[in-house]
Amino acid sequence: MKVKTMTINWHHIEKEVTNFLQHLIRCNTTNPPGNEILCANYIADVLKREGIDATITESEPGRGNVTARLKGGNESALMLLGHTDVVAVEPDKWSRDPFGGELHNGYIWGRGALDMKNMVAAELMVFLLLKRQGVTLNRDVIYAATADEEAGKGNHGIGWLIDHHPEEVNAKYVLTEGGGGDFYVNGKHFYTCQTGQKGIFRFRLKAKGRPGHGSRPHRDNAVVKLSRAIAALGQAKLPMHPSETLRAFLEGIAATQDDETAQQLRRALDAENSETALQKLPLAPDMIASLRALLQNTVSPTILEAGSKINVIPAEATARIDGRLAPGQTDESFEAEIRPCIGDEIDLIVDQYSPPLETSTNSPLYETIVHVMAERDPDATVVPALMTGGTDAKHICPRWPDVQVYGFMPHRQVREEKEMNLIHGHNERTSVENLVFATRILYDIVTRFCQSSTGEKA
Ligand SMILES: [Zn+2]
Repeated sequence: MKVKTMTINWHHIEKEVTNFLQHLIRCNTTNPPGNEILCANYIADVLKREGIDATITESEPGRGNVTARLKGGNESALMLLGHTDVVAVEPDKWSRDPFGGELHNGYIWGRGALDMKNMVAAELMVFLLLKRQGVTLNRDVIYAATADEEAGKGNHGIGWLIDHHPEEVNAKYVLTEGGGGDFYVNGKHFYTCQTGQKGIFRFRLKAKGRPGHGSRPHRDNAVVKLSRAIAALGQAKLPMHPSETLRAFLEGIAATQDDETAQQLRRALDAENSETALQKLPLAPDMIASLRALLQNTVSPTILEAGSKINVIPAEATARIDGRLAPGQTDESFEAEIRPCIGDEIDLIVDQYSPPLETSTNSPLYETIVHVMAERDPDATVVPALMTGGTDAKHICPRWPDVQVYGFMPHRQVREEKEMNLIHGHNERTSVENLVFATRILYDIVTRFCQSSTGEKA
């Protein structure tokens, strides 16, 4: 493998992958409406120029997906997956054009530079390199740049492909977004590899009461009943559900720390001492907030709807709640957990459910990631991580439970700046340095995982 790697001119590749990302950013794929066909057409053209057949499919006009395949041996296929849609921008809050793809002072600017046109570009580059280098593959490698990850239920992207064109995306292993960021604990360096995510359980609470005139209050007021339920839910201390992934994450860090810190890390999993331990951990406040959320099911009331006139008591009041499930939990266990807080009088209507996911680290792909990182950054440790939010894995794993999805876009803090905090924010940008860092590592991972020759030079 190394013999081949040496023949790659990485200076040239840096320009090429930068150019890919700039072009992708210039396609305005704000979702809604998406219009991901712009990216799909661009990518298909790039692939065709290299002699690779690309297939474009549309779930609806404009909602374009592009897929391509390099044939290999009989091992289970690997898919390099990315979404091409992006979230909306407030252009007046940006200091550069969010769809300009400008390269300035080592940074590529624009919506999607981090989430996740950077990885779409890096995976495209890796895919082209496999072809150019003539790597003999032990398995098929699929490239998929798909629509509709960012908005609501995301029914127009990878989930739609699985339902309508499964032959395009039938891989057992998937590399996509969600992990690969680095962090430090007491000077020790770590990269996350996302192996799991919380589930989604979005629901409405609906209280019914007696309508009436605002001048004559009565005790059967829907607004009052709903408020009581929300207040109880908001103040409830829901039980902890520590997961295997979280345990492995904390153990991975603990193994590098002094005894006292290691003990605090382990105590975070223990219901009695968790909160005290969390507060003492030498981690950034946003990481502690994430850990707290990952340890249990969570509920955030976000939207209230009731009444339309100041002098009319409404017959109904509704609250929308964004609920997230810890691994191991289900819609039923979640409802059973919160029902005592809200009481029996309130209706609970489920709007969206997708189960939590947890993929094993006992897999040849995960091992490959760990091995490659040990070579590329010998002082750092890879730890499996859970995400409070979701990725396209939520469309894959419930349909195809045997598929192992890992989130890994290696990414380092550069110049003391935490780029990743700009995801979905103003002035989103990525350094070219990180883009190339990721491309090289992903190329190493994919070639090592997919190269059929066993005579690799050590
Ligand atoms: Zn994303």
